Amino acid sequence: MQAVSRVHGRGAAEVHALRGVDLAVAAGEFVAVMGPSGSGKSTLLTLAGGLDRATSGEVVIEGRPLGGLGRNEIAAVRRRAIGYVFQDFNLIPALTAAENVGIPRELDGVSARAARREALAALEELSIGELADRFPDEMSGGQQQRVAIARSLIGDRRLVLADEPTGALDSTTGEAVLGLLRARCDAGAAAVMVTHEARHAAWVDRVVHLRDGVLVEETRGGGAGR
Ligand code: ADP
Ligand code: MG
Repeated sequence: MQAVSRVHGRGAAEVHALRGVDLAVAAGEFVAVMGPSGSGKSTLLTLAGGLDRATSGEVVIEGRPLGGLGRNEIAAVRRRAIGYVFQDFNLIPALTAAENVGIPRELDGVSARAARREALAALEELSIGELADRFPDEMSGGQQQRVAIARSLIGDRRLVLADEPTGALDSTTGEAVLGLLRARCDAGAAAVMVTHEARHAAWVDRVVHLRDGVLVEETRGGGAGR
């Protein structure tokens, strides 16, 4: 993204959530975004994922500036290229874990049977294969979060965007999730993760630090140079 700003509200209620942020993430790179609450981390991620539009500046995904695209075109880019883990999971309550995870593949046009097979494999990767036929309200917060992560990893999306993907997990499970994201990047995907856990820096290539909507600092992560 180039010189990206996002202003919420107007007049006296105006909030400058992002101010002129430049951030480029290459294929194979794992980037962490850190910063205090309200510093603009979630806003940055929603803009990077085409879920919201910049007030000014340009968001480019795989060479395509989103500013010039219509809603449907952005939705198509998002659906094909991006796996997204929402901070509040965004699971569909009426669907089972396997159905929630399989949705992106069904939208890709694969058969329901293939989508279920892939969904079960993704749930296995997160060690919750046995929860495949449970509904979200039959799972703990941590289990729901793992379903949301499985949904973002299915179908080998080239860009994974994750908003505090380990917030509801114990530290062992959280480390396992970071290992999965790291492996995905080592296989050529790009990932951007919002986190408030300093020790997560060990897994990433770079940490970018946000303060009041400004990228103030960039530090090397422990995964750099792999
Ligand atoms: P973070 O994820 O770092 O906690 P956010 O990106 O959620 O920060 O929010 C950045 C700032 O923008 C905050 O001051 C927040 O209150 C404001 N903000 C975020 N979304 C909206 C919105 N939809 N409407 C108004 N203000 C918003
Ligand atoms: Mg947030």
